[in-house]
Amino acid sequence: MIEQGTSIKRVYGANPENLARIQEHYRGVISSQGEVLNQFGINSELEKTNEETGIIEALDQSTNDKLSYFGLSPITISPEHVHVIAPDDLPEDTAAFYSQFHQTIVIGRFGFNIPFIKSLYHEMIHFKAYNAVRVNEEEGKILQYRTGFTIDSPKKRYFFGLINEAVTEELSRQFILRNLDHPLIKSEYDWMVDDLSSQQIQKNGSVPEDLFDGEGIYIPKTFRFKDQQELVGYETFSNVTGRKALTSLINTIDSKNTGAFGDPSEVFDLFVNAIFTGHMYELGKLIDRSFGRGTFRKIGEIQDPDELLEFVKNLQ
Ligand SMILES: [Zn+2]
Repeated sequence: MIEQGTSIKRVYGANPENLARIQEHYRGVISSQGEVLNQFGINSELEKTNEETGIIEALDQSTNDKLSYFGLSPITISPEHVHVIAPDDLPEDTAAFYSQFHQTIVIGRFGFNIPFIKSLYHEMIHFKAYNAVRVNEEEGKILQYRTGFTIDSPKKRYFFGLINEAVTEELSRQFILRNLDHPLIKSEYDWMVDDLSSQQIQKNGSVPEDLFDGEGIYIPKTFRFKDQQELVGYETFSNVTGRKALTSLINTIDSKNTGAFGDPSEVFDLFVNAIFTGHMYELGKLIDRSFGRGTFRKIGEIQDPDELLEFVKNLQ
């Protein structure tokens, strides 16, 4: 157990000397937040607007409500834990990330609130999930061991990583859909629906055909300069295939265990509970009881989303 104010719940493999050093490191993370930017080669962060600070505080509260729903104590993510970055300064192919070592979130500020909120909520779930570190014995290095479902060890790289990302993004998706009427989201959502249905954009081929097919919302990605007719690129919530696999798995668990669950959302809650508490045993038992011994382990081993989808579709 590390100091209050971090989300690190356990340290594995540390001798007493290392443990003291690790505790020292995590005591200092708030005052050394700037280091994370150096490490990732990010030159500068943006000053947060009042609106962004308000969003951070509101999402901190909402994610704490989730923890409390599962009987867990709150973890505070203050605006100091969050670094807002111009999109050009982000590492490639990243909209946002959580650093367990620095206890920090780095997030790109694209023009719209919706992608900002959905990415921030997602990273806050990683932050507040069950976090544990391990120590590399020879070098005394602090390494990631658990983030929610994901296990990283010398033998198991990114074990259950796909499920972890799928559950995390699904929580973020549900959060956005629950809050479509919020002023920060509503105007963009209405505008998006309007914009996407306009002939001009359809002709440009940028409207996904399955626009409202299951996802509920598409996320505007870039800022649109209305006068200059610049078009917006849209993206879905991330981890599409992984989330399809998760949904399929949840539905199959539900139908295989007739009468055990009120509806599939209760099965989803088992996954969320495992992410927050780190306890995977019960869920693993349920899955192996339903589909045969070794199934849970196999799900953890698969690293490719398409392969995972194929695997869970064939479960019966
Ligand atoms: Zn993630």
